[in-house]
Amino acid sequence: MKKLLPLFLALFLLLIATLGPVQAQQGISASSTTEVQFPTELSFSLRAESAVDITQIFLRYKVNKITTVKVTSVVQLEFDPAPLVEASWTWEMKKMLGSLPPGTEIQYSWRIQDASGYQLETAWETVQFNDDRHPWDILTEGDVTLFWYRGELSFAQTLLDASNEALDRLARDTGAHLERPVAVYIYASSEELRDAMVYPQEWMGGVGFPEYGTVAIGVAPANLSLGKRYVAHEIAHLLTYQMTFNPYADIPAWLDEGLSTYAEGDPVSGYTSSLKEAIDEDSLFSVQSISSNFPTDISEAILCYAESYSVVEFLIHHYGREKMLHLLSIFKQGSSYDDALLQAYGFDTAGLDDLWRLSLGLEPRPSPPATTGTGPFGCQATSPPTSHSSLGAFAVLALLLVPGISEIIHLSVRRGRK
Ligand SMILES: [Zn+2]
Repeated sequence: MKKLLPLFLALFLLLIATLGPVQAQQGISASSTTEVQFPTELSFSLRAESAVDITQIFLRYKVNKITTVKVTSVVQLEFDPAPLVEASWTWEMKKMLGSLPPGTEIQYSWRIQDASGYQLETAWETVQFNDDRHPWDILTEGDVTLFWYRGELSFAQTLLDASNEALDRLARDTGAHLERPVAVYIYASSEELRDAMVYPQEWMGGVGFPEYGTVAIGVAPANLSLGKRYVAHEIAHLLTYQMTFNPYADIPAWLDEGLSTYAEGDPVSGYTSSLKEAIDEDSLFSVQSISSNFPTDISEAILCYAESYSVVEFLIHHYGREKMLHLLSIFKQGSSYDDALLQAYGFDTAGLDDLWRLSLGLEPRPSPPATTGTGPFGCQATSPPTSHSSLGAFAVLALLLVPGISEIIHLSVRRGRK
């Protein structure tokens, strides 16, 4: 029995310790609600009651997205202490750098304390930042869920098929695959898409949120062929992001845009003619110069996309899918551009430029070109090389088919990848 006493004592102490928070939680009752004003606001409201004054209320929330460090934000609410309080806090998206995409999941929990020191921590709940201004229909196949509200089922099915064909093309030729599900929101026009953005741009036809696994595109049912290219291109950006995400370094623009352009299928005629002209005149940009942001000049930007497609196609067709998959996996470790190429293929960016030129019937360059600048082979870098846009080719496609949108490239290159 003597030996059992310490055990009883330990159990007793454990019981006391267990009862503590339970008793505290029983002292406060609470209920909460959320309200979405898409795309600008998300409000959290709480009603809490205790036998004594409620003295402190904290809201904790975290956003479901791809990130290296899970961040929980904490907000202390302001209110007058009382036994019964109602308090709320509004997350104003205009205070963020950009919009949250539709469908973003936010988890939240409350911590409430009263004057006796009792605390209540509510269970984590989830609210979706949905754009409920439209009557969305939903279609899911594999890892892709497509949301749309205008057009027949066949319209949505065609866009979903285009998404999956792009993913199949990349899986077949590069081995790359989605690591988590993605969502595609089809707005009925670019105007209605802009209405869904906190900071809409005049030129905006679509926007990618790779860290959230979401793209939002403005496509009218009458523009189906353009829409197919849009979704194929943008969904490939989501895939590339997932395959290469790391906290250290980005991937070269020619690879990101090249894979997305490759995912579309055959290149548009504007790309083909631009590339042919540059080959004929021996005026190609170097692979080094299309590693960073593409230029603001429209015809130069089109050439950069055409070249990116060509370089990626060269790598896939001459060296095969396993090496491309290896390259992506090396980039995921945060490798530099040259180190990743050397490891996967045995040549660096300059070596790739030489071999790619040879495949096009051109001699290697006589001397190493500059990596940035505005020289004869330099794309103008408008921001650091680690930043690039997933909107670029989107923009080019829009330009090829919708005249008069000359600001697209200029604005899109400034949008950094986070
Ligand atoms: Zn792109």
